[in-house]
Amino acid sequence: MREPNTASKSQPCIYCLLNQISVVKRVPVKAFNADRKTDRQCERMIDKKRIENAVKEILFAIGEDPTREGLVETPARVADMYAEIFAGLHTNPKGCTKIFHESENSGLVVVKDIAFQSVCEHHLIPFIGKACIAYKPKDGRILGLSKAARILDILSARPQVQERLTAQVAQTIMEIVEPKGVYVYIEAEHLCMTMRGVKKPGAKTATTCIKGEISESDIATVRGGNYS
Ligand SMILES: [Zn+2]
Repeated sequence: MREPNTASKSQPCIYCLLNQISVVKRVPVKAFNADRKTDRQCERMIDKKRIENAVKEILFAIGEDPTREGLVETPARVADMYAEIFAGLHTNPKGCTKIFHESENSGLVVVKDIAFQSVCEHHLIPFIGKACIAYKPKDGRILGLSKAARILDILSARPQVQERLTAQVAQTIMEIVEPKGVYVYIEAEHLCMTMRGVKKPGAKTATTCIKGEISESDIATVRGGNYS
């Protein structure tokens, strides 16, 4: 049940916090499976042969020889990689999500330090970072603990911009959990700023999205890691 990347050592983890809530009943009340697609279905929707041909063209275009030994299998490798890193295009984040009912109302639920990687749609190279997803449950509805990270993974596996990714995670949590409010904070390094253009390795971009009833003190609580 415990997942290593969801809480830092010096702060109380979300599992400890949730254990403090006396749980009388924990039953799934909703499941979204209608739009869930299998990995095989996703692969069929990504045209690998077309990607291979396009990668060969790029290699020609930069003055390389796609038939030389080191490159001959590269187009197929890139096609397999794209099928993997863009699989989220064909997966509905609502399809993997269970909502549970806690009989007692809990406070802010915070899942933080969630590592993720996505692909900048302007340059098709990665941006890599960490996310914090927090929400205030309403009427006892809570998300399965790993599902916040799963929603982020699915929405990251698409050509993205960080601002939209942040808003999409927040909106998805709002639609699935119907909480009082949600707060998403993402911090990432964009390789398009590291490897090209301004070439500023280590520069981080932070984005936030707040929906519903999230107060300044909630945000301070989440950012400061002080849950008491
Ligand atoms: Zn970019």
